[in-house]
Amino acid sequence: MSSPSTSTPIAAITTAPGRGGIGIVRLSGSDLKPFIQAFFHQDLKARHAHYLPFNDASGQAIDEGIALFFPGPNSYTGEDVLELQGHGGTAVLRRVLARCFEVGNALGLRHATPGEFTQRAFLNDRLDLAQAEAVADLIDASSEAAAKGAMASLSGAFSQQINALADRIIHLRMLVEATLDFPEEEIDFLEKYQAADQLQSINDDLQLLRRQAKQGQVMRDGMHVVLAGQPNVGKSSLLNALAGDDIAIVTDIAGTTRDRVTQLIHIEGIPIHIVDTAGLRDTDDTVESIGIQRSWQEIAKANVILHLLDARRPDDTSDQAIMSKLPSTTPTLQILNKTDLLPAEATQHSNDNENQLHISAHTGQGLDELRQRLLRIAGWSPHTESPWLARERHLHALERCDAHLQIARFHAQHDDQILDLFAEELRLAHNELCEITGVFTSDDLLGEIFSSFCIGK
Ligand code: GDP
Ligand code: ZN
Repeated sequence: MSSPSTSTPIAAITTAPGRGGIGIVRLSGSDLKPFIQAFFHQDLKARHAHYLPFNDASGQAIDEGIALFFPGPNSYTGEDVLELQGHGGTAVLRRVLARCFEVGNALGLRHATPGEFTQRAFLNDRLDLAQAEAVADLIDASSEAAAKGAMASLSGAFSQQINALADRIIHLRMLVEATLDFPEEEIDFLEKYQAADQLQSINDDLQLLRRQAKQGQVMRDGMHVVLAGQPNVGKSSLLNALAGDDIAIVTDIAGTTRDRVTQLIHIEGIPIHIVDTAGLRDTDDTVESIGIQRSWQEIAKANVILHLLDARRPDDTSDQAIMSKLPSTTPTLQILNKTDLLPAEATQHSNDNENQLHISAHTGQGLDELRQRLLRIAGWSPHTESPWLARERHLHALERCDAHLQIARFHAQHDDQILDLFAEELRLAHNELCEITGVFTSDDLLGEIFSSFCIGK
């Protein structure tokens, strides 16, 4: 694979903005030797640390540091890569980068777009698409578990499983297509090669892969949990209790939380974005009613709604009004808070109902159970290993692959003149797997994936 843009040399500051011990400017291009000559007035030995001044046009040092040259194809991008490792300050790095553009102007050097280094690595077959995505996921990982999963994907663990499954589908396809060339054998084909058995075992592997991918996707994306309810039921207190910190302002004055407050927490490594919202009630206050509108917007976007109620007034008519307005398709838990204010016997068997839970944001009662229920709703199962991270995109491709295999199976079971249809479904199933690893991709998809990267990666 190649693309015309790969020949243009690119440069960017690749370390995070801000102060740091070391800052790196990275360049990639099909031939950086002329650039190196012009910049350093000497050649650089491949993969050798040269300690050198980074000079401006007049020969004054802008910085000094390590220059590393990785000639293609054995580099991150598969092209020539040059790294200038200097001091990690914004101004000094900008000057080094500006100097690079000055020197590289004649060579067409331009600023790299987000993810462009990794995109080149993909286009030059250094990484497949799932691995390239894992680069961004590793950088974005917010928990150790997610980082571990991203690293496993980056090293190819996920891609290997996809490829192994793809190989088995190809094998079956080859048998079918060979048979298609000899129509008199068609009738025997399915039996002769035990096609149904092969399909069944491919299907078993696919189902396992789908379960693992779901786990990997939950680990990557987590979910958005919205705290909704009347003012003063303890939404902000619950956010703080789950976050283990005073994130949101808690008062006994109704209407304190006027805008949403979002906090990222982790439950067993799964990222959970908790959104505290303005209490839902009728109000004449303009600011508060804007806040309430936003609450409804958040509720509409939620993966899970926690509808908080005061445990002392579980049948409050205002709560019933709220309940009737909550989206019926979003999983919703009724959280009866302030249980500490009830006599203990009142809540003894109260948590048997899967959609309702007694808690106390003050004492912490019921919070462990709440965390477990959130994990269950997220689709997390502690019994399935999640060896790698996956994305929604991967889940959809696996789902479509599954659908094609099911149609293939249907054809296999109703065996008259269906061999070519059978072969076609196998081909389509195979294509879906190739989309995950990027054998077949559209420019739109690539643009979407790489534009979400940071610049310099
Ligand atoms: P919000 O308006 O729904 O965000 O409610 P707040 O979190 O601001 O809490 C309102 C009031 O209820 C505050 O005085 C809290 O201290 C109190 N509160 C919140 N949770 C509990 C709880 O579990 N038990 C008791 N006794 N009081 C609580
Ligand atoms: Zn609040």
